[in-house]
Amino acid sequence: MSNLRHRFLFSQGNIRGIWLNLDTAYQELVSQSDYPEIIQTVLGDACVASCLLAATIKSEGSLTMQLQGSGNLNLMVMQTLADGSVRGMANWSGDAQLSEQQLFGEQGKLVITLDPGNGKKRYQGITELVDDSLLATLENYLTRSEQLPTRLWLANRPGKKAAGLLLQQLPDADPEYWQHLTILADTISTEELLDLSAEETLTRLFHQESLELFPAEKMRFNCSCSNQKVVDMVLGMGQAEAESVLHEQSDFEVTCEFCSRTYRYDQVDLESIFKTGKLAKLDDNIH
Ligand SMILES: [Zn+2]
Repeated sequence: MSNLRHRFLFSQGNIRGIWLNLDTAYQELVSQSDYPEIIQTVLGDACVASCLLAATIKSEGSLTMQLQGSGNLNLMVMQTLADGSVRGMANWSGDAQLSEQQLFGEQGKLVITLDPGNGKKRYQGITELVDDSLLATLENYLTRSEQLPTRLWLANRPGKKAAGLLLQQLPDADPEYWQHLTILADTISTEELLDLSAEETLTRLFHQESLELFPAEKMRFNCSCSNQKVVDMVLGMGQAEAESVLHEQSDFEVTCEFCSRTYRYDQVDLESIFKTGKLAKLDDNIH
């Protein structure tokens, strides 16, 4: 049971759920930088929340969660694609002993962007950070913006495991049954969320309820950066600026903040980029 996401549906009451458990996908994500433990926890919570929310949306595109803080956590970005891949990064300041109170600051906000793909219109929602808590912020946002009330449970073992559970009302949900299920789900412990399988968790919480558990979807850490995306960025800079960067350094280098991959171009590469819009040789410049 690693890096799995399961959808489930209660037979009555029009209520659905999603269970998620990440280990190596989360470990890879937080190992891209030297994050303090508290930032690893926020990244884990954001990673789980975005993978859970992405599963509630029928989309071929992406869900991006961007947290802009005014405290020690300046910026956090988490992106989940329809194929189960997830990537994320955080920018932070201060020493390794960050406290939770100083993390988000006074004027933090959370931006959630849904890009359905296929050239369809993007949807963006913006909300203020509530109670210095990503979970409280998300639940507040979902309650206000979605017509479908949603509850989340998140669990984290910093740098090792991240897990979560989501329950969501579908149209015409039975409010009493919803309350019954959320009271049951509130009894889950952090250890149970992190260490039990989907089957064990659902038996532990809902053994008297009738529900259908759907097959697992595999989740993974994967970055969607590519040579062509960096080339497009270089083209956007313009030849004069790109060459002035090359002039200052021996190579033109771009490091992806999500996956630490470095794209390196020399004078010949830049000439090819501005002449043809792409690289002449593709394989030997990724490090
Ligand atoms: Zn990347």
